[in-house]
Amino acid sequence: MAPHQSLRELPSVDRLLADARVEALLEAHDRAAVVDAARRALEGARREILAGRDVSDLAGRVEGELRAALVPRLRRVLNATGVVVHTNLGRAPLAPGALERVVEIGRGYSNLEYDLDPGSRGSRQDHCAGHLVALTGAEAALVVNNNAAAVMLALAALAEGREVVVSRGELVEIGDGFRIPDVLARSGARLVEVGTTNRTRVADYERALSEQTAVLLRVHQSNFRIVGFTEQPSLEQLATLARGRGIPLVDDLGSGVLGAFHDEPPVRASLAAGADLVCFSGDKLLGGPQAGIVVGRADLVDRLRRHPLQRALRADKLTIAALEGTLAIHREPERALREIPVLRMLNEPAAAVRERAVHLAALTGGTVEETVCRVGGGALPLAELPSFACALPEALAAPLRAGDPPVVGIVRDGHLLLDCRTLAHAELDEVARAVASARG
Ligand SMILES: *Cc1c(COP(=O)(O)O)cnc(C)c1O
Repeated sequence: MAPHQSLRELPSVDRLLADARVEALLEAHDRAAVVDAARRALEGARREILAGRDVSDLAGRVEGELRAALVPRLRRVLNATGVVVHTNLGRAPLAPGALERVVEIGRGYSNLEYDLDPGSRGSRQDHCAGHLVALTGAEAALVVNNNAAAVMLALAALAEGREVVVSRGELVEIGDGFRIPDVLARSGARLVEVGTTNRTRVADYERALSEQTAVLLRVHQSNFRIVGFTEQPSLEQLATLARGRGIPLVDDLGSGVLGAFHDEPPVRASLAAGADLVCFSGDKLLGGPQAGIVVGRADLVDRLRRHPLQRALRADKLTIAALEGTLAIHREPERALREIPVLRMLNEPAAAVRERAVHLAALTGGTVEETVCRVGGGALPLAELPSFACALPEALAAPLRAGDPPVVGIVRDGHLLLDCRTLAHAELDEVARAVASARG
């Protein structure tokens, strides 16, 4: 077709569909998609003509629209926010070793629920349990979709129709509407609140326990802190009380670190202090895939395993592959610090981050600025990680987000800060190219 210079010269959708090149597209795409693409191509052409530009190759535009519809919506993003466990940016990037497991298991068949030795049905829960038991000192372990599901399953299996005692200081909202009281209600258990927002004593729990009590729940104040006139019993005190009454103590740790990190309570310490079950996330400080992990007493884990909700909340094979891969790396703690991205980023000395910021500033003509990073993911809200960023004009923020790959930084005081704690050295050239094209 010849160039079109006025709206009148544009064909109708039907006429465009009759064009031989557009008609050929119907062989590979369904008709509705091609019609839709033709409509969008004509809309685009109309806008350009109104803007005073000539329009040519309408068939090519239809093809372009069809291609654009297939471009992935879920995209890799370069995280220059300095927030290591960024919930909006997908939380934990996976270690190469974990990713290899996903590719290998996803590509073909696997023994997901097959016991190779007798050649009969097995359980998907067996693949990660060994690592989890070794890493935490627990008797048994179970994996579900996320930690919200883990807490819900634990309460449903142990306390449905009965009471769960929780401190008022721990009735937290984690984000995206995950509120402990709601999860409790959905599990079919009844919430019994004890103490006050800032002070709860063992005696408060003691008074609330009755024949109806099924679980004593402790929730880690993962994403907030109460300071000042405060009091919470230690886990040991709660464990002594629970054990005396024959009631399980469930500890929702949220992040669940395996080693020591700031004042985050390690999973092993929680079990050693007497928690009967501990629930934590796979994709917070563990640095693995989204998953909910429950470790603890074998008889209780078994009750969770046999509960009908377990089937609905179970993790899929790709998650299990990534989690097993991540846990295997954790078995060698030094290797975990090098290879698990979340651990590497959180533990990297500020001087090393500064080197990358200097390098990025040289590549982009920016300046180096000292910053403070947050852990993110609802963990360690007060922890401050010293960091360094490359500062650029604020006007680059929007074009960088629109780039390919998008680069997301932080806008502060008229500057765009590209924090280098969450950018790998190998990503700096890519960021520099993105900045160059954002300057256009
Ligand atoms: C983050 C968190 C959860 C929810 O974990 P997800 O893996 O995001 O489902 C539950 N409880 C606590 C205390 C948390 O910090």
